[in-house]
Amino acid sequence: MVNELTGNRSPHVDVEWILPWFDKHWKDQSCPICGNHSWQIEDSPYRLDPVRFQKNGMYIISHSTRLVIPVMCETCGYIVMFDAAKTGVLWFESENETDNE
Ligand SMILES: [Zn+2]
Repeated sequence: MVNELTGNRSPHVDVEWILPWFDKHWKDQSCPICGNHSWQIEDSPYRLDPVRFQKNGMYIISHSTRLVIPVMCETCGYIVMFDAAKTGVLWFESENETDNE
């Protein structure tokens, strides 16, 4: 299946680039649950697909897919997500580096 956002290429989060972005935009980097300041950044973005349920129990996946970068608190597991397009820190593997999906 071809991802409509990325073609056949696999997007990855460039952690070296996102850390300065976090320092600029994420003012209070303490976890709202436990107060920890240590976070783990996923190296692959996650894909969010809005789902609309119908009366017959079937559902439709919307075409407005969003890629997000999950960042997890290393102490309690709380996860915060950043819109990948807003951060501008995704890069894409060439096709010969990707796994077959
Ligand atoms: Zn926490």
